[in-house]
Amino acid sequence: METTILAKSSSRDEPYAVAISLTETGLSFFCNCPAGEWGKYCKHKMAIVLGDAKILYNDEQIENFNKVSKWISESDYPFLVAKLRNSEKELEAVKEKVKNMKEEISRSMKEGLK
Ligand SMILES: [Zn+2]
Repeated sequence: METTILAKSSSRDEPYAVAISLTETGLSFFCNCPAGEWGKYCKHKMAIVLGDAKILYNDEQIENFNKVSKWISESDYPFLVAKLRNSEKELEAVKEKVKNMKEEISRSMKEGLK
């Protein structure tokens, strides 16, 4: 099964086309935006995976969007997204740790450190 969803572009008036196919190898996405052309992570594919309807170019996309949302819910994408969110939280915690260490070093440099 294959379908296409038109996604809004932030840099031009014409939409990008996200092609979604569900085959025996799984659910795959292809977008014709500059990043997507290289098979890279892009916000159009990601918005669809996240179920963010704000990315839709117009109301005509809703039927396909709902169909694809069902495919996504039956796949491992929600699990991968949860792993991504978890990694982002870990990254924020490490950034905070680095910031605190820099402050401590800076304070030591000002006040002296034995
Ligand atoms: Zn894209």
